[in-house]
Amino acid sequence: MLTLERTVTLVLMEEENIAESGGNIVKVVENFEVPRKIIEALKKREHYPGQYSVTKLICCPRKTFYEMTGVKEFVTEEAELVFARGRAHHGVLEVYKLREINRKRESEVLDKNGKPIPIYGVIDMIGDNITEIYTTTISAKKIGVPEDAAKVFPMKLKQLQAYCYFENELKGDLLVFFLFGDYTRFTDIFGKKVYTGMKPQLRAFTFEFTESELREVWEKMNQNLAEIEYAKNNGVPPLSVGEDWECDNCGYAYICLEEPVGKAEDVLR
Ligand code: SF4
Repeated sequence: MLTLERTVTLVLMEEENIAESGGNIVKVVENFEVPRKIIEALKKREHYPGQYSVTKLICCPRKTFYEMTGVKEFVTEEAELVFARGRAHHGVLEVYKLREINRKRESEVLDKNGKPIPIYGVIDMIGDNITEIYTTTISAKKIGVPEDAAKVFPMKLKQLQAYCYFENELKGDLLVFFLFGDYTRFTDIFGKKVYTGMKPQLRAFTFEFTESELREVWEKMNQNLAEIEYAKNNGVPPLSVGEDWECDNCGYAYICLEEPVGKAEDVLR
């Protein structure tokens, strides 16, 4: 909150600035065209609507059904920028030897010709470690002990498990870039609170999985795939849906809220 003294100081500083610029107010307008063009370019980013990826099979099956059947997704400009910010996070890893490996694994679901439908995955590796990288604005304080990472980032954990299954690997790293650290803005320096601003934090959590845990995620992906294929064939969106929080900001909420909700077993029976 601004005190009277601070407000007076700010007004005086502003007057001083105008005086220094010869009394002229700088001519400037906000240019909306530049951000618009950038956001349009972001919207055109490449993706493969006809292919099943790990990401598509660990999220809400209905969402993937809509995406794969060409239903228009409503993505706000803010959401486009959030995605762009997420993609930019790989830049912080320039210090590491990072490589991406493209993998394809046959699912247990057959297409009309009796061939297994493939699932694609792009796996980040840091050295020899399978690494799932995530950028977040939540506070690093939410991860008090390493086990909290599994609860706070359930989707990322599933993704990591899926990649480990692909690679027959029981260990994987979740690398989290906390953009605003723990939101602490003041640092105690010699007993005095000094404003230092929010500082980002980079933390890594190494998970060890069992074969059955990885198998469980694989089976869930296959179940989702089967359900989506079934829905594609009969034209009715999957009855089963993902977690409640997935619906927040979902680009298909405008159409999905009209659909009934059920359980995967209901449609697979
Ligand atoms: S609104 Fe929710 S249930 Fe519907 S598609 Fe999106 S995530 Fe799935």
